[in-house]
Formats: sequence, structure tokens, C-alpha cells
Amino acid sequence: MNPFFNLHTVADGVWAAIVVPGSGALGNAAIIDLGDSTVVVDTFSLPQAAELLKQAAEKLTGKPVQYVINTHYHGDHHYGNQVFTNSQIITTGITRDCLTKEAAPTTEAWQEGLQQVITTLEKGRQAAQDNRLQTAFANEIADKKALLRAVPDIRRVTASITFSDKMIIHGSARTATVLTFGGGHTESDAMVYVEDAGVLIAGDLVLSRTHPAMLSGSLENWPGIVERIGRELEFSKLIPGHGEVTDRSSLGEMIRYLTAIPEYARQAAASGETEAYWLEGGVPEPFAAWEMSHVFGWNFRWLYQQYKQGEGVK
Ligand SMILES: [Zn+2]
Repeated sequence: MNPFFNLHTVADGVWAAIVVPGSGALGNAAIIDLGDSTVVVDTFSLPQAAELLKQAAEKLTGKPVQYVINTHYHGDHHYGNQVFTNSQIITTGITRDCLTKEAAPTTEAWQEGLQQVITTLEKGRQAAQDNRLQTAFANEIADKKALLRAVPDIRRVTASITFSDKMIIHGSARTATVLTFGGGHTESDAMVYVEDAGVLIAGDLVLSRTHPAMLSGSLENWPGIVERIGRELEFSKLIPGHGEVTDRSSLGEMIRYLTAIPEYARQAAASGETEAYWLEGGVPEPFAAWEMSHVFGWNFRWLYQQYKQGEGVK
């Protein structure tokens, strides 16, 4: 047991590391045993959580981690990279460019920024009407406080290997296909498809019953990417970037969210009522029971403003 994540056997040779909400790890990770090599997908938001992931991968597979794949550039999927000192780190070329363009902030500036985020989150928690929203805020605050404490120790490590569309790691027992269908959640989102095991590791392109953050990437492309996953990839188990291990049913739920919430915000913006009026109504069905419900507020405000300015959403 560790405070950051729980390990689940998803298929022969594939494990999901599902984070404990509020522990600071924040984004799920996965471990793949290819037979003669070991792969880790995403490395959490904290080096100390990543260290435990590395130990778990070595113990489960009996081998050092040869490859680490980062699905996208959000910190909760790569701040732990630094512990994988002897591994090759793989991302799309675009993800690597995003990370190198955005110069790492100084420790001080980063801590100051996080303090401001925590203050805003505290206000959100105080204003939250229902228990679900209060819990979501409390977890996010705890996650951000854990990151704040870790900041002086985090060293940004970017990919040593990049790819454009697809690369295949051939193992003696199974193969891992690392691929992208473009950018939806961010400018570039990668997935890892373990066809022999019937598993897709989807990063944040597909979550299970958890509000996805829509503020970067392309909302225009995202539903089409999820549709394409359903059409082209055969798998029965899906490891999402956030939420519990799921199956193909999350594809349809995700597409529904990605189309219904912008439509809801579009109608809200056209109604003449304020943002606050609509937010008081809470999360619309059938998404009211989804986790990380504070993210709905971020999504809604952003979409509402875009529609208000008559820009539509990209
Ligand atoms: Zn993300």
C-alpha cells in the first residue's frame, strides 16, 4: 500500500495505477510488461509517487523500466519523469515542443502561481453548495498543496524519443502501439494500445465518469478522435487518465459530454441569464454524478464566455 495510487491488474501483463484523490499524484499511470522490456505510461504529478510507480513496475515485471511514455503535456502526467533516469522517454513531437517552448518557471514563480490557484480553489470550496462539489474542491486543494511542497524537488525532463503518428515497441510477449489521432484534450494527445491484451491506455482523451478539462486543445476535434478510437481500435478494457478502469462504454459517454456541455453553454449564453445563474443550477444530467465536478465550472465559464463573445468554440 502507498498513499498515492492503487494497482489493478487489467489484463495479462498490464496494470493500472489509479490515483488516490487528494494524494497529489493526480493523473493515472500504467505499467506494461512486453516480455523482454517494461513500459510505464505517464508518471504522476509528484516525483515521490513516481518513485513508487517505478518500484512497482520493477517488482511486477522483474525488469527495469526501459520506456516511459507521456500521453500529453499536462504536469500530472510527467512531473515524475525525473525518477526514470535510465529510461527512454517518449512523446509526440508536438508535446515535446509544447514543453520546451514553455520555459520551466523559477521555483519561486511556480510556488507563487500555485498559492494563487489554491486561494481561488479555497474560495470555490467555500461557495460550493453541495457535498460532491465541496469534496472535489477539497481534493484539488490537497493535490495542489502536495505539488506546492514538491516544487523545489521537481526537475522537468522531456522526451528523448518523439514520433508523429505512431510507433510500435515490439516485445517478446506483446507489443505496445504508441499512437496519436491529433489533439483534442491538448494540442497533441497520445495513447498506448496493447492490442494483444485488449487494453487501451487513453490518457485524458477518455475519462471514466470524470469531468474532462476542456480549456486547452481542440473541442472541435476531440469528439471525432474518440469516435475514431471506437472505430479503429479493438479493446475491451480502457485505462483512463482520471477515474477508475473502464471499458468501451466510456467512449460514448465521453462523446456525449463533449457535445452536450458545449450545447448547454451555448444555450445558456443565448438565454440572457448570467453565468452565475446557470452555475447555481449545478451540473446538468446525466453528468451530475461524475467526479471532479469543480472542473465543470471551469469548462462552463470558458464555453459561456466564448459563446457570449460570439466566437463559438474551437
Ligand atoms: Zn490532461
